[in-house]
Amino acid sequence: MPPRDLQTDRPHSARIYDYLLGGKDNFEADRRAAEEMLQHTPRLAVSMNANRRFMVKAVRHLAERGIRQFLDVGTGLPTRPNLHEVVQGVAPEAAVVYVDNDPLVLAHARALLTPVGTGTVAYLDADLREPDSILRADAVTEGFDLSRPVAVSLIAVLQHVIDDELARDIITRLMAPLPAGSALAISAVTVENDPAGVGTVRTYNQNGVPVVARTRAMVEALFAGFELIEPGVVPVHHWRPVAEDRTVDDADVYMYGGVALK
Ligand code: SAH
Repeated sequence: MPPRDLQTDRPHSARIYDYLLGGKDNFEADRRAAEEMLQHTPRLAVSMNANRRFMVKAVRHLAERGIRQFLDVGTGLPTRPNLHEVVQGVAPEAAVVYVDNDPLVLAHARALLTPVGTGTVAYLDADLREPDSILRADAVTEGFDLSRPVAVSLIAVLQHVIDDELARDIITRLMAPLPAGSALAISAVTVENDPAGVGTVRTYNQNGVPVVARTRAMVEALFAGFELIEPGVVPVHHWRPVAEDRTVDDADVYMYGGVALK
């Protein structure tokens, strides 16, 4: 298959995020958009790091609860630790399927695919907006035992699905075939912490990357029908905080997070 055009002249979500986290997988257009965001929200990296820690806390918690299958949609570029490193660190036999639709993430998938345990790690090039194609893919049907619980993680990706009803529908369809005991972890963009975040959301949209900010109530609504575990939907650094979370200023964190069970 020929490589898909990386469209390096246009900013991309995963690459803006990579730049703000101090990575090297980004291009001039990504850096320009990111620098403009930093003018509105100078400590955006604090938020993004808190979000990465939320991913780590959430999936570690779910692995410690006994879940052994993880479907991570909107994976992003490799960063340390990656999700499979966390869950296979707890349970070496855990199976992980990563899903993203960015060609640069696909190009780096090899780096994501090195299991650190005895379990499997697979990468699926698919679109979140077509949940049925994700669930029908070999990586899922052959990689997972769908009679056993699966943890679905949607970490910092649903802000790109503007319409709430569409977001709800995606979640419903992703979770429908999964058995009781399955889990749903979400983090989503907000500006309730800091009105200046509106400028950064606008910059994303002006650069052709659709982003929506949600209120806490809107993020809670994404979990409708599932049982939120403690502490519910909170700013990501308040979710079962680790030491680093306690040094973070509430105004700097533009993400709500929550974990729920089916
Ligand atoms: N989950 C990671 C990365 C978040 S960046 C983290 O929190 O660190 C958002 C990611 O979602 C990007 O990699 C982007 O390519 C991906 N993404 C955006 N829209 C998507 C879609 N419709 N389908 C699949 N992936 C998508």
